[in-house]
Order: sequence, then structure tokens, then C-alpha cells
Amino acid sequence: MPAELSTSSAPVRDGGRESFAPRRHATPSTARDRRAVVLGAGFGGIAAALRLRARGFRVTLVDGLPELGGRARVFTREGYTFDAGPTVITAPYLFEELFDLFGENLHEHVDLRPVWPWYRVQWEDGASFDYGGDPDRMCAEIARFSPADQDGYRRMLRHAERIYKIGFEQLGAAPFDRPASMFRAAPHLARLGAQRSMYSFVSKHIKHERLRQVFTFQPLLVGGNPYDTSCIYSLIQPLEQRFGVHYAMGGTGAIVRALGGLMERQGIEIQLGSMAQRVLTRGKQVVGVELENGTRIDTDILVSNADPVTLYQRLLPSDGPHRRMRSRSGRMKLSMGLFVLYFGARRKYADLAHHTILLSDRYKDLLQDIFSRGVVPSDPSLYVHAPTRSDPAMAPAGCECFYALAPVPNLNHFDRWDETGSSYADLILERIEKHLAPDLRDSLESVFHVTPEYFRDELQSAGGAGFSVQPILSQSAYFRFHNRCPHYQNLYLVGAGTHPGAGIPGSLCTAKTMENVLIRDGVESRVS
Ligand SMILES: Cc1cc2nc3c(=O)[nH]c(=O)nc-3n(C[C@H](O)[C@H](O)[C@H](O)COP(=O)(O)OP(=O)(O)OC[C@H]3O[C@@H](n4cnc5c(N)ncnc54)[C@H](O)[C@@H]3O)c2cc1C
Repeated sequence: MPAELSTSSAPVRDGGRESFAPRRHATPSTARDRRAVVLGAGFGGIAAALRLRARGFRVTLVDGLPELGGRARVFTREGYTFDAGPTVITAPYLFEELFDLFGENLHEHVDLRPVWPWYRVQWEDGASFDYGGDPDRMCAEIARFSPADQDGYRRMLRHAERIYKIGFEQLGAAPFDRPASMFRAAPHLARLGAQRSMYSFVSKHIKHERLRQVFTFQPLLVGGNPYDTSCIYSLIQPLEQRFGVHYAMGGTGAIVRALGGLMERQGIEIQLGSMAQRVLTRGKQVVGVELENGTRIDTDILVSNADPVTLYQRLLPSDGPHRRMRSRSGRMKLSMGLFVLYFGARRKYADLAHHTILLSDRYKDLLQDIFSRGVVPSDPSLYVHAPTRSDPAMAPAGCECFYALAPVPNLNHFDRWDETGSSYADLILERIEKHLAPDLRDSLESVFHVTPEYFRDELQSAGGAGFSVQPILSQSAYFRFHNRCPHYQNLYLVGAGTHPGAGIPGSLCTAKTMENVLIRDGVESRVS
């Protein structure tokens, strides 16, 4: 196995329970007292800050928002706690690792509970499919639609398992910043059929159209169109099967708070409400960042958790060694935008699942509206999150807390949200009332929404994209933004736009990959 294919990113389950020996780094003397600035406090940035701290760096974490978490920040309104973004927690071992670095235990700080079903997929005519990881239970669900597809499902799982072993266990945290790494991986990816789209991969095994939808919507959770996204992303299913789908009591915000506490205990300096407006360079070195208030922070290394397109287009100087990357980043395909509606209800919906995917009658055509035609669908598919189904404390007593997420075109394809936002919120509420929550509008409170403009203006995401650049093959692995900038020797990148990609597991792995790059390259040669 080539060296770059052997950097394991996932623990191997031992007797049904994954285990980690606490990983104590021998602090390299060269790193001690060196300063690292991490720009952005999303999951990728927080994980990078902790990993650098464990290697002995003095770390400063800077974010323009007033709170930690980036997309995983929390909105609180009138007794409701709304996780702004991620809600489905997979691969918790990636969080465990961060606590292990300092001899602490994640589970003493966060109460993670398994969720069932992982998702309830429901169509407009009321038919539904409870999606989860137990193959027997899945076959029983499949049989309700198409008994003949049970064998195909099991075949598909076996194929996805092979993809997982290469795509996640071996390549997930392997540096992909040299052409050689891609040459080594290419035969493996070709053998796995990575050039196939997710939809084509699933269709090879499963014939019933509704079941195809059940097993192909997952790329949308990392910003991709199932008809364009590489079937490498079928690894999501084995990943979920191995490690489960969890909910953090108190919401995903509870994880962010626990990580914040860990960073404070480890002496990481956190500067919130500090928007960086420029990355300062000298030749092929980054020397610091300049904040909007004029403050300059010098650094030995900079780790950017900002959207890489924004980094190359807006934060780095307009000219310099990265100029080709700057223009390439402007041509990259961005993920779709997201319209997210947050609301509470002064009543309970006992039949509702914690996670529901309400699928529109249109599937391929709807995706074309969003990804190609720039049309905001009037019959959106929705992901509806109802955390109070597992955790009543997320709302006042007797109330239900919700968010509904609709994939929409990003701002490069549609930008008239001023005119459209409120009426789109009404349309979504009507749709939820009709299909999931009867009489909802009689008991509504605390209703507000964000549009792709929020992603552009508050999260600094190019084109208001929900998940940075799309996870298509030509923007994956070596072709995604590298975890070390090829143009500045001490500039590293983490977060959804970098290898391996979006989602919480992906973003946490980007920090692991960044650390592997530091180890591979020898930190001392970079920071002198
Ligand atoms: C609505 C929604 C639902 C999702 N659901 C799930 C889910 O259920 N499960 C899952 O695994 N994933 C989910 N995701 C995806 C997941 O949330 C993201 O991929 C991941 O959190 C991104 O982390 P990141 O490291 O890229 O940082 P981000 O969260 O993108 O944070 C980047 C940070 O950088 C800061 N920043 C940028 N520029 C500057 C600057 N110039 N100066 C200072 N600070 C700056 C921003 O303020 C921000 O805080 C969801 C995403 C969204 C939006």
C-alpha cells in the first residue's frame, strides 16, 4: 500500500465498540512557542486549533462572528434553542479524538444519544420510508416498495463498504496536495467506479424510483447534486452504519460549547467578533492577518478555516504567487444555497420523526432547477429538523422546536431574496402544515429565516453556497483545495472547501489531514 494510502482516518471497530488509545503528542521543540493563528471557528478551525495546541503551538483562534461554531452556531429566541446548521452527528470518534489529545473524555462533556429512524423519508402522497443502518430492518422497509430490490440493496452495501474502506479509512485524512498522491490513488478510485454519479451507482443496484431517491439524497447533505456527485459519497452509509447517527442533548451547540471549554482549558486564545480583512504576506510566507478594526496579528503559521474561494479571492493580496489559484477558484462550481426557516409551535406533534426528508414529487427536475436553471422551486424538498422529538428542553414546555431546510440555487444563479424571502417562508410553512404538521400555522411563534445572503454576508461563503465548493470528482481529493497552500509555505487550509470535504466528519478530517501534512513536511522547516 503506498504511504499516502495508509494514513488511517477511522478507528476500526473492535467487538462493536471503537476504541482509541489516548494520543499524546511529543511536543516538537521547534513548535513550542511558535504562534499559530487559526482564522475561522467552524468545526474545521476548532479541530485545527486543538491539534496545533496539542503539538505545542501558541494558538489564537479568530472569528468574525460573536460565537463559536460557524455554520454550527446557535440561535436562541423566546425560550427556543435553534441549532443553526448541522444536526445529524455521525462518526463521534472524530470529536472523541480531540478530547483524547489532552487526556479528556468527550462523553463527560456531551451526552450523545442514538436517533431512530436516522431519517424518515416522506413523499407528498404520504408514503414514507424509515431509513437507518440495520440491513434487515432496511430490507423490510424496501420490501414494502419493491421486494425484488432487497438483493440489490445488499449488493450495493457491499460495494459501498469497499468504497468506504478506501475513500474514508485510507484516503479521508491522507494529504492530497501533490500530483503523486493523485496518481497513487487514481487506480483505486477507478476500480471503485468513482467516475459514476451517486444516482447511477444506486440505480445499478436498485430499480424502484422511490428507493433510488431514498439512497441518493445523501450528497445533498454535503452540497452535491446526486446526479453529478461521485459515488465515492456512498461511503456515507457505511460510515453511518459503523458509528451510528446521534443527537447531542442540548443540540449540536452542546458540542460546540464543550469544544470551547476544552480550548479554554488548553489556553487557546479565542477572539470572537474579529473579522479578518486581509492576510498579510511577504514573498512566499504569510506573516499575519489584519482585522477589520485595524489590529494586526503576526503569526508563524496561518490556518484558514474561511471558505477557500473567499480566501483566494478576497483575503489574500490581489496579486502574488497564488494568482492562478485565485482565478481558478473563481471558476469552481459552488454547492447549492440553503433557505433555512426556524420556528416554534405552541403544541406537540407526537407522530413526527426527529429528522424528516419531505421529498417533492419532482426529483431530477427539481435538482436541475436548483443546480442548473437558477429556479427557486415552488415545490421544494425539505429537511425538517424537530429536536424536541428527542430533547424537550430545546423549547418551552409543551412546545415543539423546528427548522426546515430547502436547497435552493446559490447566489450566482439567483439573488433576489429581498423580494422572495418572506413569501418563500410562507410557502414552506404551508407545505409542512399540509404534509407533516396539521394546523401548524395556528400555533406558530418565533419564526425567522436565513437565505443564501446570510451564508455570503455572515459566514463569508462565496456565492452564498451552503457547503463551499461542490463535491464533484473534478473538485475532490487532489482537485479540491489542498490542506497546505501550494503558494505560501506556512499557509494551511481546513474546512468544508478543502480535502476531504463538507459535513461534520469531513470538516473534522480536514484538520486531521492538515496535521498529517505538518508531520509529513516537518513543521520546523515551515515556521523558521
Ligand atoms: C443548515 C445546515 C445543515 C447542515 N447539517 C449537517 C448535518 O446534519 N450533519 C453534518 O455532518 N453536516 C451538516 N452540515 C454541514 C456542516 O455544518 C459543515 O460542512 C461544517 O460545519 C463546516 O465547517 P467548516 O469547518 O467548513 O467551518 P464553517 O462552519 O463554515 O465556519 C467557518 C468560519 O470561518 C469564519 N470566517 C470566515 N471568514 C472569516 C474572516 N475573514 N474573518 C474571521 N472569520 C471568518 C466564519 O465566520 C465561520 O465561523 C450542515 C450545514 C448547514 C449549513
